[in-house]
Amino acid sequence: MNRRQFIINASIFSAAAGLLAAAGLPSLADTAATRRPGGTFRLTDTEWRKRLTPNQYAVLREAATEPPFSSPLDREYGPGIYHCAGCDLPLFSSVAKYDSGTGWPSFFEHLPGAVITRPDHSFMINRTEVLCGYCIGHLGHVFDDGPPPTGLRYCMNGLALRFAPLKRKPA
Ligand SMILES: [Zn+2]
Repeated sequence: MNRRQFIINASIFSAAAGLLAAAGLPSLADTAATRRPGGTFRLTDTEWRKRLTPNQYAVLREAATEPPFSSPLDREYGPGIYHCAGCDLPLFSSVAKYDSGTGWPSFFEHLPGAVITRPDHSFMINRTEVLCGYCIGHLGHVFDDGPPPTGLRYCMNGLALRFAPLKRKPA
């Protein structure tokens, strides 16, 4: 990432934080904390198949990967929160979203306590899988080639996410 992109990201960060405050919403950390699960969200396979579309099921429950540049969320940069499409836990803020150029929605940070990770050695590649902390649905992978401030790239399947745009308070 060059300096100009970093400045753009930084200004998006301030704008989103300002919008949250203006809307009288709790901070992003509070939002995640209040929704943090006490236990694991569990459904039977039949219930998951009813709840999700076949493509969502393939990603969230079978760790499939959507084709790059296929998700409208890859091109979404409005302020808001990205929830798990399986259980609705808030996972990422638009504040941490950036264009990685990979064709998948990318974030440099998740909301506190929202995701878990585990080693993934499939396809003879060592990667780190990212899963929803509540329903343990597959979201994508995390890599260490992301931008500041974390240097991380959470490479997510748009099918695993539901975007909730931040509504501004009427003037
Ligand atoms: Zn979930």
